[in-house]
Amino acid sequence: MHHTAKKMTALGMALSCVLLLTGCRTRSFLSTKQEVALGKEGEREVEQAYRLDTSSADADRVREIGEKLLQHMHRRNIPYSFHVIKSNEINAFSLPGGPVYVYRGLLDMIGSNNNALACIIGHELGHINARHVARNISSSFVNNVLIAVLIPNPNIQNGASIVTQILSLKYSRDEEYEADWRGLSYAAKSGYNPEGMIQFFKKLERLSRRQKGGPPEWLRDHPLTRSRIARAEYIIEHHMYRYGK
Ligand SMILES: [Zn+2]
Repeated sequence: MHHTAKKMTALGMALSCVLLLTGCRTRSFLSTKQEVALGKEGEREVEQAYRLDTSSADADRVREIGEKLLQHMHRRNIPYSFHVIKSNEINAFSLPGGPVYVYRGLLDMIGSNNNALACIIGHELGHINARHVARNISSSFVNNVLIAVLIPNPNIQNGASIVTQILSLKYSRDEEYEADWRGLSYAAKSGYNPEGMIQFFKKLERLSRRQKGGPPEWLRDHPLTRSRIARAEYIIEHHMYRYGK
């Protein structure tokens, strides 16, 4: 390729990186198929490690809201699922390839605020759809764990559980912004009021100040900063919901 053409391409790539925020990181050790396999294995582990609430009004509510949001997103080829974990932790997480988990403690905290719940589930779907785990995963993770999942061999021990390893991959600040943005977009397009996200953030802040045993668990994986709240407010104020189609 001609030198100038090369430079122009580099500039174009840099620009699209700026436009897409974190979406430009193309390095990914996982295909969608592998993400789904990883999520399935993680789902099995979660079922063994936690008690799930499968038949309550809240279990239905989480599923219904999740499914409503799914109608407004582009990754249709993966098996999303929505679960409630019977635990008082104020937390939620997602696994690559589809599973989303909301803790009972978080549901108790937000009460009947479906707008907040839609934004939280949307945020977790945002991590899945932006493929954050696939992008953060290291080649050694793939070697140590994924191969054991994809090529099951009873003689090989997996070591640390898949879920533990996935949850130990911390999301970057930019990935949190991106998941918020996607979550706000999915919620708004599905008819929920995205202000629910701000209400949730404010409640978390108040709780963090009051709680003695450290901040709510959700904040450990998704740190909340002033700038994060300001960004969410800006997106709402300017109706920037075309993102994360
Ligand atoms: Zn997050």
